[in-house]
Amino acid sequence: MRFVRVALAVPLMRFFDYLMPAEMNLQVGCRVLVPFGSQKRVGIVVALPNESELPAAQLKQVIAQLDNKSLFSETLWKLLQWSASYYQSPLGEALFQALPVKLRQGESAVEKAKILLKPTALGEQALNDGHLMRAKKQLEALQELGAAPQLKADCVIPSHILSALKNKGLIEEIAQPTEAKTWLQQVGTQALVNTDNRLTLNKQQALAMTQLHFHQGFGAFLLEGVTGSGKTEIYLQLIEETLKKGRQVLVLVPEIGLTPQTVQRFKARFNVPIDVLHSNLNDTQRLSVWLRAKSAQSAIVIGTRSALFTQFVDLGLIILDEEHDASFKQQEGWRYHARDLAVVYAKMLGIPVVMGSATPSLESLNNVQNGKYQHIQLTQRAGLANAVRQQVIDLKKQRVHNGLSDGLLTKMAHHLQQGNQVLLFLNRRGFAPVLLCHECGWICECRHCEKPYTYHQQQQILRCHHCHGQRTIPQQCEACGSTHLMTTGLGTEQLEETLRERFPQYHITRIDRDSTARKGKLEAHLQDIQCGKSQILIGTQMLAKGHHFPNVTLVALVNVDSALFSLDFRAEERLAQLYVQVAGRAGRAEKQGEVLLQTHYPEHPLLQSLLSGGYGEFAKQALLLRQNMGLPPFSAQALFKAQSRHNVEAEQALQEVAEYFYQQQIAGLQILGPMPAPHSKKAGQFRWQLLLQHSSRQGLQQALTAFHHQQFNALNKVRWSLDVDPLEL
Ligand code: ADP
Ligand code: ZN
Ligand code: ZN
Repeated sequence: MRFVRVALAVPLMRFFDYLMPAEMNLQVGCRVLVPFGSQKRVGIVVALPNESELPAAQLKQVIAQLDNKSLFSETLWKLLQWSASYYQSPLGEALFQALPVKLRQGESAVEKAKILLKPTALGEQALNDGHLMRAKKQLEALQELGAAPQLKADCVIPSHILSALKNKGLIEEIAQPTEAKTWLQQVGTQALVNTDNRLTLNKQQALAMTQLHFHQGFGAFLLEGVTGSGKTEIYLQLIEETLKKGRQVLVLVPEIGLTPQTVQRFKARFNVPIDVLHSNLNDTQRLSVWLRAKSAQSAIVIGTRSALFTQFVDLGLIILDEEHDASFKQQEGWRYHARDLAVVYAKMLGIPVVMGSATPSLESLNNVQNGKYQHIQLTQRAGLANAVRQQVIDLKKQRVHNGLSDGLLTKMAHHLQQGNQVLLFLNRRGFAPVLLCHECGWICECRHCEKPYTYHQQQQILRCHHCHGQRTIPQQCEACGSTHLMTTGLGTEQLEETLRERFPQYHITRIDRDSTARKGKLEAHLQDIQCGKSQILIGTQMLAKGHHFPNVTLVALVNVDSALFSLDFRAEERLAQLYVQVAGRAGRAEKQGEVLLQTHYPEHPLLQSLLSGGYGEFAKQALLLRQNMGLPPFSAQALFKAQSRHNVEAEQALQEVAEYFYQQQIAGLQILGPMPAPHSKKAGQFRWQLLLQHSSRQGLQQALTAFHHQQFNALNKVRWSLDVDPLEL
């Protein structure tokens, strides 16, 4: 009797045993079809154990074998195992998420043979004899195929005519062996590179290349350089070297960065097959890209985070652009971080991974400091560009209309009158409004935690999300006595309304999740901006990257304060990244650009270091602060979330988890919460969260692994999730 242990795509930390029928020859990594309850499910073989915990009589048989050999390369298998355990996710979820949807559904992982239609000997004879058939359409079709056999998939002859000819024995279908030519064979004697658009590296770039060459095998490189400093040119030349060794290349970009222009740059440089995994591909096309890379038919694959799981025959280099971008983190199911996994993967493969950014994440900068990554910096702009003028507006002394100061409105009018465009940014990520005094900048904060209270508009109450305390809304500032108290932040829609009243003669385009939810809307909006139809643009971070707006001369960050006092400790880092990105948007052509920041706290130390010392200085200060406060990357976090229609149930579920961890008395573990999630109610569901923080990653891992071996009653009643290294709190 032979046993098979199978992983299924279910959110359970366990495997399922089955019996292997005599005629099957299963291996680890093969897919199988198995009975599961009253259903049939696709599973992946994870082991062939000698015995099962269950008596054989209770085991069911595997229904079908779907693959002859493992679908996963040895290294990818190892990576997925490692990552399922690191992210505390069932292996089944990770394995299935790493496969194209069609394969999850059980489709064949072998490229379909191509079918050729051609006349039979009888058909040829009929053509030669000039033996006239009465059916004119059939005769024409036969003549067409006689002139040149056709692939069934491409053939436009109606199928009833084809079957009539087949029935008469005049044509036949011949399965063509798939001529899976590798990319090297396809390139043949052609040059790999179009040297006419290859640039001669400047001194800094050349030095960077030398540093990149210094290491053989694995190396993790943080390539830091402002936009326009020539990072992409370095990627291209590294790729060239890798291709010349006959090896394949993977390029990962953020969701928003995968634009036709990016891809075009790669295609223009190399005469090799390049596949792009973008969101408009259907499942069949995705499977085809996967198959092409796995059989070395493609040389370069460009894609967003999940492209990391494309399989290659001989991967030689991983490039990851905009490494600080949050879209590299998967936000549901198996919550992996593609950047962190790419480094682990590159190490397993013994190849370099190059991570580029103008504004590196504090995690990566810390990895430079502790020697895990090599730091390579490009400080000069390769092309010409004017430095932007930056200005801070101190809101304390200004009249403010729905978040817009007199100073900003005057500036806007000035730029608009000159026929230029103006771009306003609202930073809404991790947003939680804070109550402050407009006169003196006093902030209403919790005395126990020295953290701002969060303003809850619906309940008209202030709540501390750290200790859970709450208080009524004060009438007066406790520092200066002013009654002019206000909350930070407003929505993009509100902003649009105010601007419409103020500047009725100009066209406004608002770009955010709501205004671009429908397909094609984002492109249409961008088009309005490009062609100059709109003069005022309002956007969230969606607008910050990848788009080129040469006529924008004024960029303003409207609500900086909400980031300075956010519940999420990463808000300042995101603000600084956004600031650098948007500063790069202003006045790119011959026109002088201006960047404007509105805040009640122009003297805030992080803001000061950003404005006077740039991102590098900011990052240094911010990292020191994180270290002093014991926040990541100097500690590790895991976030439990629970939601339920009933507020108490969600809270109790996490209370149960919190109590479990208290009982364990784990040294170095901090337990924060449970507390209401930042959006504490959404679609009728009450949402709570519980944050664990440990001074060491290992310590946290051990605690979480032990947790999974326990049973929880209240937790099982609600929908819950666990996010290791959460990016958004
Ligand atoms: P990044 O990726 O850092 O934004 P790019 O590689 O796109 O920078 O370079 C910015 C611009 O400078 C591009 O137009 C590019 O063609 C040009 N450029 C890059 N490197 C060089 C070089 N060595 N010599 C001349 N122009 C360069
Ligand atoms: Zn005051
Ligand atoms: Zn508190």
